[in-house]
Amino acid sequence: MDIRVDPEFQKKLDWMSQFVREEVEPLDLLFPSASAMYDTRNTKARAMIKPLRDKVKAHGLWACHLPPELGGKGYGQLKLAFMNEILGRCSWAPTVFGCAAPDTGNAEILALYGTPEQKKRYLQPLLDGEIVSCFSMTEPQAGADPKEFTCKASQEGDKWVIEGEKWYSSNARFASFYIVMAVTNPENEPHERMSMFIVPAEKPGINIKRNVPGMNDHEDDGAHGYVQYDRVRVSLDAMLGKPGEAFKVAQARLGGGRIHHAMRTVGVCNRAIEMMLERAVSRRTQGRQLGDHQFVKGMIADSVIELEQFRLLVLKTAWIIDNQPHGAARTHIGMTKVAMAKVYHDIVQRAVHLHGALGTSRDTPLAKMWMGVPMLAVADGPTEVHKVQVANAMLKTAKPAKGLFPSEHIPTKYAAALERFGHLASD
Ligand SMILES: Cc1cc2nc3c(=O)[nH]c(=O)nc-3n(C[C@H](O)[C@H](O)[C@H](O)COP(=O)(O)OP(=O)(O)OC[C@H]3O[C@@H](n4cnc5c(N)ncnc54)[C@H](O)[C@@H]3O)c2cc1C
Repeated sequence: MDIRVDPEFQKKLDWMSQFVREEVEPLDLLFPSASAMYDTRNTKARAMIKPLRDKVKAHGLWACHLPPELGGKGYGQLKLAFMNEILGRCSWAPTVFGCAAPDTGNAEILALYGTPEQKKRYLQPLLDGEIVSCFSMTEPQAGADPKEFTCKASQEGDKWVIEGEKWYSSNARFASFYIVMAVTNPENEPHERMSMFIVPAEKPGINIKRNVPGMNDHEDDGAHGYVQYDRVRVSLDAMLGKPGEAFKVAQARLGGGRIHHAMRTVGVCNRAIEMMLERAVSRRTQGRQLGDHQFVKGMIADSVIELEQFRLLVLKTAWIIDNQPHGAARTHIGMTKVAMAKVYHDIVQRAVHLHGALGTSRDTPLAKMWMGVPMLAVADGPTEVHKVQVANAMLKTAKPAKGLFPSEHIPTKYAAALERFGHLASD
């Protein structure tokens, strides 16, 4: 595994690092609401990001997750990992660099499965940052297990008619189109019952029952749509991919989404550690600096060690995606998803704690980081589901012991060694 950064690319990373800190981070202060990033009608925010996006484009760093034929650099995941570490420290940075979720994942599946007409209508404006999109999969009664989904689409004449409810469809209220997963083939095997549809936001019958606010959001600033599809009629060519292929299409976007979140989590954790370090050498207690107390040293050391381990796991996963056959990184992506939630929780908790009362206030970025803790463990599939998937993959490689005792049973192994080499070992 080679995770070196070539000097030319390092120059780009250095530019990004300075640019994000100096020119993009102010947006987090001026437009702190999560929805401002996706609201294309927020003219003030849009006016501010336009020149920043132009600079990103001038440096050839716009939408770098995309292959060259779609206007990206085709950098591969390893380079994206280094870039996302920088973007992760600032909420607005992915929007300014044209790689904000869920639009990235939606663009990926449109590129992979879209017809030329679908690409022209939906993909291009998405890539240009002119519109935003919504991925509408989770349902109010079922999230982690899509086999429980009931939202359905039936063919009536020359239309598909979509009926059902979706929950936590992020940015539904700002999106120009929704990618909706619906049951079309109930007679098929569970993983082949659903199809994916592209639904323009203006279609009659789309009823956003609530915009659910995240823990950190104002009640009137919610962006996670509880959406009712009340006999929404779309044309037959609105299907993305083939009938029954929704699982496959969803997997194509979720894997990439998970690893990009993990890369950005490294960046947020770095910022929390920077804050811990500054606090440790700024604050005094009991006649010494905080950083002179062993408990505090322990918190810093644990945080740095855990982040380094996690970062290497993320980089290895990125390297596997780049260098091994499609699907080879599946278990590593699961490992990364599980580790991400734990490392993030532990590091942010220590950073909050080390800042005392200030850490518990809204006066530092730590408050927003802390609010993100439960979300990272649930979004894109809960920790338990990924642990099970990782364990299952490992169990597939295991074989039962041949005899009554484990293959590492010392008396049995000793007897075998004696039989084979006893004549050499005896006097
Ligand atoms: C910030 C955020 C943004 C999101 N954005 C979107 C979006 O844009 N579009 C979209 O469609 N969805 C979105 N989601 C929804 C997300 O994908 C679901 O929350 C996730 O799949 C889990 O589903 P659930 O919330 O129904 O939890 P449930 O499935 O009810 O799970 C709840 C808990 O049950 C336990 N559990 C579940 N399954 C198992 C299992 N197999 N084994 C053991 N324990 C288990 C776990 O403890 C889990 O945390 C978003 C979620 C968040 C938090």
